[in-house]
Amino acid sequence: MLDMLTPSLATLPPVESDSLLALIALCNADPRPEKIDVGVGVYRDGAGTTPILRAVKAAEKLLWERQESKGYLGGRGDVEFAKLLRPIVLGRHADDERIDGVQTPGGCGALRLAFQVLKLANPYARVLMGTPTWPNHPPMAEGTGLEVVRYPFYDAERRVIRFDAMLDALQAGRPGDVALLHGCCHNPTGADLDPQQWQAVTRVVVERGLIPLVDLAYQGLGRGLDEDGEGAWGLLDVCDEVLIAQSCDKNFGVYRDRVGALFVKTSAKDSTANAMAHVLQMAREMWSMPPDHGGAVVRTVLQDEALTADWKVELDAMRARLNGVRAQIARADPRLAYIAGQYGMFSMLPLNFDQVKSLRTKSAIYMADSGRFNVVGMSDEALPRFIAAVVEAMDG
Ligand code: PLP
Repeated sequence: MLDMLTPSLATLPPVESDSLLALIALCNADPRPEKIDVGVGVYRDGAGTTPILRAVKAAEKLLWERQESKGYLGGRGDVEFAKLLRPIVLGRHADDERIDGVQTPGGCGALRLAFQVLKLANPYARVLMGTPTWPNHPPMAEGTGLEVVRYPFYDAERRVIRFDAMLDALQAGRPGDVALLHGCCHNPTGADLDPQQWQAVTRVVVERGLIPLVDLAYQGLGRGLDEDGEGAWGLLDVCDEVLIAQSCDKNFGVYRDRVGALFVKTSAKDSTANAMAHVLQMAREMWSMPPDHGGAVVRTVLQDEALTADWKVELDAMRARLNGVRAQIARADPRLAYIAGQYGMFSMLPLNFDQVKSLRTKSAIYMADSGRFNVVGMSDEALPRFIAAVVEAMDG
């Protein structure tokens, strides 16, 4: 028998609770039928549901009819899936043979694999990332043993990017350090770099010899598929080494199917092949192979012209709703005007923790402690009540 002095599973320290999971539990336990959950990061339509896209349903039907085997696919996953993503994710660089891509379990799988291969290539590389960022970024990088260096990204008072501070931090980077950049739809702030800012960041990345890792989890949900890819494409124009961690989970609405890809560019086709061999070996150690279904569904959509066209219509509609709701919230109060100039699923409201808590107790509105909210978390019907409650909380 193990005693309590021998380290074992029983002596593990307690896990620090994840505040977003705690928020979900709080919201679930609230019996008020009018409750609004703007904490969780999934797209909801005007009716307040997260439907399966038409194109996805049609592709699943086709797959059911056509798929004849569930035999292993191999570490790269669905090769055709990664190939068909290239024009979308890489744009004018789609034919660059120095870039290779593999399927991963969602954007998370791609990010973890990216950090892992960067650590292998240079154990002393530091990952430069802004504050705030998506809460999963630091632990995913640190989990590989890489050091994370934070810099101020957002001025929460003025609701703008602290661009000078960002550039200074990148300038202070050492050659080989990794610049983690949100490709579009910054999570949690919604504050995206404009084209001039992308150019300035790209210049510094090149000058300092940094390796950019672009997290492209929301392509098409900001300004458009091409517009949202342009930041990454500008880096590919001039950088020898670039990594792109991509997710289809949001723009195809297949969150639980875990669909993503990691694209890696190095200076030569041979070195990319070698880097990819390492990537595949590390993937083998972690998950062996990515799950097939979601990748096969996306591939089936992209193989079919009509389904692709329909997916783009549906993506346009999601983006239009996001930007429409943003405009409505922004019109409600001058203090919320900035929300119209931001992109993607999230922005941060000018609320302190007490105000966020009072929204929960008084109005059954659940958002992260930081005031981050899912812009399309509420139905059209609930939107006026949401706006009124937020304005009241700001006044209170
Ligand atoms: N990157 C960012 C910025 C995200 O917000 C998310 C998910 O919320 C991801 C990556 C991971 O996406 P996935 O669900 O595909 O793993």
